[in-house]
Amino acid sequence: MLQFEDALMPPLPTLGLQPAVPNTGRAAQAPVVAPAPAAHVEPFSRVRVEDKRVINGTADVNQLVPFKYKWAWEKYLSGCANHWMPQEVNMSRDIATWKDPHGLTDDERLLVKRNLGFFVTADSLAANNIVLGTYRHITAPECRQYLLRQAFEEAIHTHAYQYIVESLGLDEGEIFNAYHEVAAIRDKDQFLIPFIETLTDPEFETGTPENDRKLLKSLIVFSCIMEGLFFYVGFVQILALGRQNKMTGAAEQYQYILRDESMHCSFGVDLVNTIKLENPHLWTPEFREEIRALMQTGVELEYRYAEDTMPRGVLGLNAPMFKEYLRFVANRRCQQIGLDPLFPGASNPFPWMAEMIDLKKEKNFFETRVIDYQTGGALSWD
Ligand code: FE
Repeated sequence: MLQFEDALMPPLPTLGLQPAVPNTGRAAQAPVVAPAPAAHVEPFSRVRVEDKRVINGTADVNQLVPFKYKWAWEKYLSGCANHWMPQEVNMSRDIATWKDPHGLTDDERLLVKRNLGFFVTADSLAANNIVLGTYRHITAPECRQYLLRQAFEEAIHTHAYQYIVESLGLDEGEIFNAYHEVAAIRDKDQFLIPFIETLTDPEFETGTPENDRKLLKSLIVFSCIMEGLFFYVGFVQILALGRQNKMTGAAEQYQYILRDESMHCSFGVDLVNTIKLENPHLWTPEFREEIRALMQTGVELEYRYAEDTMPRGVLGLNAPMFKEYLRFVANRRCQQIGLDPLFPGASNPFPWMAEMIDLKKEKNFFETRVIDYQTGGALSWD
């Protein structure tokens, strides 16, 4: 590893300050104690904007400036402005509702438990994907900066779900094992795992069209299908509960999570589109069809999850409404990355979801939170 004191030493290329394989930073693991003879020291060139690339870049990944990808930096700043912590949300009403035998129907309880069953491990998968996978393949330091913020937000989300489970006194073993034990949840995660494994495989390197496409595919699956589609049945369900004045503490947490996740999705879309712009040869008709097929599978898996969580109508919601909603969301994701819509004409049965993301407008919608960090910044990224 690059030692701190090494980072302060004069620029000897053998120290890995200008990595030979800058996309991973792993050249920093090259020997740190063997100084090259002075005659072999290469001239050290400063980072130029035009040398920066989102993938396979050659510029030093440790130098945030000069900025090239300002959109990533601005999303980082907005993510920080939106900071929140789960324990600031008062859960006492939720606890009373959950304990009251008449507080919720059986179907509403199933919906809450299934919901947490998916999310308690989902954000951990997302965090692993970033920290152990995506991060090392991205060579734009502005994008890495956002990914670090995003990784912390995934930790906050896992914390939030754990906090709800603990507050309600749910069976932790049941909830945290749902991704093994509940088929509709397990199927969604099993769909995702190969795409995580591609990026976290220590042998995997970008730099060939085949591998660059694998990276791009994994990025699309994560931002547009996991964070951009697989989260949305759950978000609608809990926010619908909150709109009926039930489980408002949980609903408020989900509202903050939804805002973060809509930015994660938006960052992922910008990342994908920038990689496409810088590497147009990757975006072949065959590849586009492959992505559309994955999106179709994603819609089917999420619909099965909707059916599993709502065997009957509940809260004025039912599974068929989600079929239309998921088609609408999938079209939007396709459009965001430049694909033709999969389901032309699909409409949005939950227009109120847009207000849920825009917390500036609906500030303190559920009025349970005690601290407000928001200091400005655009909130409507979706
Ligand atoms: Fe996320």
